[in-house]
Amino acid sequence: MGKAILFSAPSGCGKTTIIKELMSGAPAGHFNPANLSFSISATSRAPRGEEQHGKDYYFLSRDEFMSRVAKDEFLEWEEVYSGTCYGTLKSEIQRIWDAGKVIVFDVDVNGGRNIKKYFGGDALSIFVMPPSVEVLEQRLRSRGTDSEEAIVKRLARSAEELKQAPQFDVTIVNDDLQRAVDETRNVIEKFLNE
Ligand code: ADP
Ligand code: 5GP
Repeated sequence: MGKAILFSAPSGCGKTTIIKELMSGAPAGHFNPANLSFSISATSRAPRGEEQHGKDYYFLSRDEFMSRVAKDEFLEWEEVYSGTCYGTLKSEIQRIWDAGKVIVFDVDVNGGRNIKKYFGGDALSIFVMPPSVEVLEQRLRSRGTDSEEAIVKRLARSAEELKQAPQFDVTIVNDDLQRAVDETRNVIEKFLNE
């Protein structure tokens, strides 16, 4: 079994931004982004902004998603928002381990807890915390990619999710982005060296 790093947080806290910064940055000490590989989840939602199939997500119809659930192709999946499913395909884990890389997950809080249970000490679970609920709302709005209805759904879910932070190995407060990325890189470096 290889190692894994998983990022969880309510939508809008900055998981995707931190992961992109880490993976596109230069190697530092024992941290080399070339050794990491992002786990591309499947989702039944439509692409947003510049998102691409096979890069950001595998975009599936709801029928296709549920037929793969029936075939037991997912390690875990969740209906994160009513009517919208997200899940980690077992084939994705195999693809990354076959390449000899460390898996990076971006999953919701329930998915994070399930994946941590599955990987145990082979996974580092990181909770990305917004500086405040007000800033979270501001960031969701200024991202400019979600409808008002989607923003309301995301905020409604966030209060419950924020309470789960203590169940994760590490909490990173995403106030200043560069500071948060540096702190994340340090904890990952330490974990990979253990
Ligand atoms: P998530 O992947 O957790 O849903 P995103 O990475 O999409 O969140 O971030 C939500 C929005 O907040 C984006 O518009 C992003 O550019 C912005 N953002 C992320 N981190 C910061 C930060 N530290 N300071 C200011 N804006 C941020
Ligand atoms: P978004 O629509 O903003 O890309 O993602 C919404 C939520 O779904 C985020 O919290 C994201 O982490 C989560 N998510 C993305 N992929 C998966 C997955 O494979 N499994 C689970 N459980 N959640 C996921």
